[in-house]
Amino acid sequence: LSPIDIQRVRQDFPILDQLVNGKPLVYLDNAATNQKPVSVLNALAHYYEHDNANIHRGIHTLAERATHDFELTRQKVQSFLNAQHVEEVIFTYGTTDGINLVAQTYGRKFLNEGDEIIISTLEHHSNIVPWQMLCEEKGCVLKVIPIDDNGDLLIDEYEKMLSERTKFVSVVHVSNALGTINPVKTIVDLAHRVGAVVLIDGAQASSHITLDVQALDCDFYVFSAHKLYGPTGMGVLYGKKALLDAMPPYRGGGEMIKEVTFEKTTYNELPYKFEAGTPNIADVIAVRTAIEYMESLGKENMAAYEGELLDYATAQLADVPGLRIVGQAKEKISVVSFVLDGIHHQDTGVILDQMGIAVRTGHHCTQPLMRRLGIAGTTRASFAVYNTKDEIDRLVQGIRRVQTMMA
Ligand code: PMP
Repeated sequence: LSPIDIQRVRQDFPILDQLVNGKPLVYLDNAATNQKPVSVLNALAHYYEHDNANIHRGIHTLAERATHDFELTRQKVQSFLNAQHVEEVIFTYGTTDGINLVAQTYGRKFLNEGDEIIISTLEHHSNIVPWQMLCEEKGCVLKVIPIDDNGDLLIDEYEKMLSERTKFVSVVHVSNALGTINPVKTIVDLAHRVGAVVLIDGAQASSHITLDVQALDCDFYVFSAHKLYGPTGMGVLYGKKALLDAMPPYRGGGEMIKEVTFEKTTYNELPYKFEAGTPNIADVIAVRTAIEYMESLGKENMAAYEGELLDYATAQLADVPGLRIVGQAKEKISVVSFVLDGIHHQDTGVILDQMGIAVRTGHHCTQPLMRRLGIAGTTRASFAVYNTKDEIDRLVQGIRRVQTMMA
């Protein structure tokens, strides 16, 4: 491991160098979306300044350049995930889009009445609602892995839920609301024992954990580029080739076809079968730069530094009277959620913003989890590689000020 040169890293993120409400910005909303290094901004500008063209169809030089760079990102993502085949990398619009794609194609074709789908209490709405929609349409049954009060999944209960009726398991890798890292390898192995197919929602994991979909042996893995220092509106669905081949296409349109007549259309091969229409070409191209940025720092180095920030923040916040940390899982990443006695999280967020401190407040798109924990919401601070202990000190001072003002 080599230490992160934090001053140099912060220079890579020009957005951080600004005053918000007269105070230096402290950006602690990284689980919602993190900021983009200047190399990613340059990649976007470079594409539009030099290479902008539609991909795959053109024979002119710009179209060839754009296509080449677009496909380079696919190769980069293949190695980022350690996927066996490059065509197992499908570009989507984000995590939500990837989960809907699988629910609407794999789910509609292969799941039937009475089949059981297992999710967990920790899921983001985007890994709940698509399965509920499928259950409504197909008569499948949705089951939910419970948690303990620390925010750890009850794996024994999960094991008991599995049976030959279990056809699909869709679980989050890292909880966006609590930071829990789930034992996804165990979850996958247990599901495979009963022949179920597994999707892992990697939205929060992808920028913090080194991924290896072959070692994990998951059937699908999804994430969003905007949570790994890349642009919004772009994401990835990884799927095992045999499964993707067996699935019907999702959206119909250009790019995803082999031949169209008014009588019948035949579909393109992977990955294009799932990529109808003109994609976010510039954003896809810039994702390669985002991954290269993380590689230049070293993902293990980033994780070690972010772990230090999490430990420091947890210790500092635990010392604040009237503050309770929500979610104390055995393994956590980069997220501290908390509630303040007698103070609504929305007031906390508004007052912190007055001090230039950006946090997320509310249910974090995990309403069922909040209900299970018996709270309406939390205030969440979430860290990225450019955050500092100094900023955590400012957060703690800010929280004390909130408590004084609301007393
Ligand atoms: N799952 C998790 C765990 C998330 O944190 C998020 C984003 N907050 C999503 C899914 C949805 O991601 P997106 O909005 O980029 O589709």
